[in-house]
Amino acid sequence: MMKNYLLSFILLFTATTKLISQNKSYSKDKIMSEKKIIKSDKEWKEILSEEEFHILRNKGTEYPHTGKYNLHFENGVYNCNGCNTPLFESDQKFESDCGWPSFDDAIEGAVKYVDDFSHNMVRTEIVCVRCDGHLGHVFDDGPTDTGKRYCVNSISIDFNKNPNKK
Ligand SMILES: [Zn+2]
Repeated sequence: MMKNYLLSFILLFTATTKLISQNKSYSKDKIMSEKKIIKSDKEWKEILSEEEFHILRNKGTEYPHTGKYNLHFENGVYNCNGCNTPLFESDQKFESDCGWPSFDDAIEGAVKYVDDFSHNMVRTEIVCVRCDGHLGHVFDDGPTDTGKRYCVNSISIDFNKNPNKK
């Protein structure tokens, strides 16, 4: 009896440690607890290129099929190019023929959704939760289980190789 008890305890312990070690370095709580980044246009212009400023701060769109991450499929994380917050993971990325990097989901809590009625369309804009940087739009025509297509400007994101996967 005692032996069984001990065995289940060890099993539980192993499972818990495994879960903890699999935990990502970022989490919704961590992202939400980070301070919001508020800068003036002048301050943003000091750290962003003209093109980055146009897209991230003035909601511009890069030309389709021109972005450096459009056909980029390495293991890692895509951070916000304005404030470095982790936004998307490589396993959320899928090949889409729309001409922009496409993801079927975002890291929980990292992206904010804003109604966008510009250009005579009804769309959902996606912005970085910390710096409100414009990322792109999300559509309901995704080909995977989530049904979502996060259509993101390459210029809005910055890829970082996953340090755990060599
Ligand atoms: Zn940001």
